[in-house]
Amino acid sequence: MSAVKIGLSGGIGSGKSTVSARLAELGAVIIDADRIAREVVEPGTEGLAALRARFGDEIIDADGALIRPRLGQIVFSDPQALADLNAITHPLIGRRTAELLAQAPADAVIVHDVPLLVENGMHARFDLVVIVHASAQTRVRRLVEHRGMTEADALARIAAQATDEERRAVADVWLDNEGTADDLRAAVDRLWSDRIRPLVGATTSA
Ligand code: ADP
Repeated sequence: MSAVKIGLSGGIGSGKSTVSARLAELGAVIIDADRIAREVVEPGTEGLAALRARFGDEIIDADGALIRPRLGQIVFSDPQALADLNAITHPLIGRRTAELLAQAPADAVIVHDVPLLVENGMHARFDLVVIVHASAQTRVRRLVEHRGMTEADALARIAAQATDEERRAVADVWLDNEGTADDLRAAVDRLWSDRIRPLVGATTSA
């Protein structure tokens, strides 16, 4: 029996984290791409040492931690720097992801929470692609109210990501999150029983 692989994505503020938290309660193993990307460049890691060697001490703060905005500024305007950053981090992220997958039970439901799943063309890797959706207006409101972002920052981040049409094109399941948190939870519970559970034991992928 092989694990069921679910890809979970959606724009910033759409409700991905809320959905993955509920899926974890239902028994899924969550692989959080953002968390892994942070872990591989924590202080003391070979990843951070490699970034320091490439980009210099200016990207490291007094506590030895990565100054993300500074690295972001460097790679934003320099394609070669971005390629170098990816060449350093992607293999480390891949290795850590493989380690986590190896620890999951053979018949697990594995949910990959990948914010840039659509942008990075990763949809074909999954048995089921679930996209969480809320309108830009709703997402901006939630990001400002719950996450302390400015409206301008929230809008800029939304504009830099994939469009709704691009997400719709790869979605097997479109989870609408325009309603209440309870509505979303009920929708996730239906997703689990109607679409995910039937895949357990039925997939042929490794
Ligand atoms: P993402 O992980 O996609 O960026 P989150 O799950 O963190 O999005 O949701 C963004 C914010 O909106 C969070 O603070 C979350 O608690 C809140 N939120 C999510 N869904 C709802 C909802 N249906 N009603 C109200 N607030 C919500």
